[in-house]
Amino acid sequence: MTATHEIVNPSTEEVIATVPSLGEEETREAIARAVEGFRRWRRVAPGERAKILRAFGSAVAEANEELAQLEVRNSGHTISNARWEAGNVADVISYFSGSVERLSGRQIPVAGGVDITFKEPVGVVGIIVPWNFPMPIASWGFAPALAAGCSVVLKPAELTPLTVMRVAEIGYEAGVPRDVFQVLTGAGSVVGEAIVRDPRVAKIVFTGSTKVGIGIQKLAAEQVKPVTLELGGKSANVVFADADLEKAAATAPYSVFDNAGQDCCARSRLLVQESVYDSFLALFEEAVGKVRVEDPALDSAEMGPLISALQRERVAGYVDESAVLFRGNCPAGRGYWYPPTVIQAKDRSDRALKEEIFGPVVVVQTFRDEEEAVALANDSVYGLSGSIWTSNLGRGLRVARAIESGNLSVNSHSSVRYWTPFGGYKMSGLGRELGPDATDAFCEVKNVFISTDD
Ligand code: NAP
Ligand code: MG
Repeated sequence: MTATHEIVNPSTEEVIATVPSLGEEETREAIARAVEGFRRWRRVAPGERAKILRAFGSAVAEANEELAQLEVRNSGHTISNARWEAGNVADVISYFSGSVERLSGRQIPVAGGVDITFKEPVGVVGIIVPWNFPMPIASWGFAPALAAGCSVVLKPAELTPLTVMRVAEIGYEAGVPRDVFQVLTGAGSVVGEAIVRDPRVAKIVFTGSTKVGIGIQKLAAEQVKPVTLELGGKSANVVFADADLEKAAATAPYSVFDNAGQDCCARSRLLVQESVYDSFLALFEEAVGKVRVEDPALDSAEMGPLISALQRERVAGYVDESAVLFRGNCPAGRGYWYPPTVIQAKDRSDRALKEEIFGPVVVVQTFRDEEEAVALANDSVYGLSGSIWTSNLGRGLRVARAIESGNLSVNSHSSVRYWTPFGGYKMSGLGRELGPDATDAFCEVKNVFISTDD
């Protein structure tokens, strides 16, 4: 009999479901089915595969409210965020359904014949997903993989499997064959590792911590298996004196406290130019006080609880009370609540400044000039995202080009659009997801020469 584990609502600490914890053998059996699934799926005519994925995308759009409500219960995401997340899955599937008929190769001029290239699906793809954005992150992997003609085995995080399990069911109803897209629930060290180790799995897409990602890259290297890694971040929000300070201060809380700071793109380092530090911080304090931390099922909620008691403990472990500048509010009682917290860095080697906290905590630093701002922003092993606030367009672009990071925004905190590439520099990852080229990560390029000689 398959073991099971319980799923807990982080806002109430109530058990809301029980799901299977698969073992290694069950994982291998699922991979065997995925091999069969791949054999058939790659032969489905492009127009037909596209039609199935379009139907899948539309069905997910139809189920938006159901999926969003489920995510509120499983992950404690605010209902408005969860609706966006479910909508993002529908958009991502629909966007990549359009790449099925566009997987063109090239014809390259050669003497004595014709040279053509083909983009061929790599095979079975293993996708390992973290708990912080269970739906969108899953879709950023499975949608382009399915579009490319690959089959997928997907392992959600143990804490948050419910929405992607439901998304898969919606996919089956829309015509995706069951052995083409399987969700395998269970522990990372069992199911996840079995997927990475299995030679029948041709490619791994992993999103999660840098530590686990490094282990996966090492294991995959033994089989020269390609990996896409989306790992941690410690992104900077850089505010220059010439910025629209009101707007920069009003938006800064949401750039780090959204999803209770459990966001790899969180701007968890706030760099403020010395000359406006006091005036900016006064505005920022006011804005932090306004963040609505409450029952995430409420339409007015702007931040919910952390995912687990363990995560709350980890986050609290980074906060030295003597370094706290100010805090927002949060509910008391049941649920893994932690208030938005603003702290000052002790020095440049402060652990809170170096490590990803993955909670609603932002560390404030000051800088003198543009050169120091760039140096501080780049003083991190990570390079995922970041924001630059300035009214000088030239400076905005200059600093965006100088920061070693995959996703930057000027006078905004946006970082993810499904039609633009997303991924990290340095220890934030390897490869890019989303955007016009994402299907290439699921294809081998084959070159064929045909002689025209008699
Ligand atoms: P994690 O511990 O690295 O886990 C991520 C996933 O990997 C989970 O499904 C986990 O399974 C699985 N896993 C754990 N050990 C494994 C192993 N030995 N082999 C294969 N799979 C294994 O990360 P997390 O705590 O869930 O998520 C938080 C981290 O993800 C943060 O550091 C955050 O920055 C990062 N993240 C990055 C991005 C990005 O796009 N760059 C996006 C989101 C999150 P179980 O936990 O279920 O056992
Ligand atoms: Mg984990």
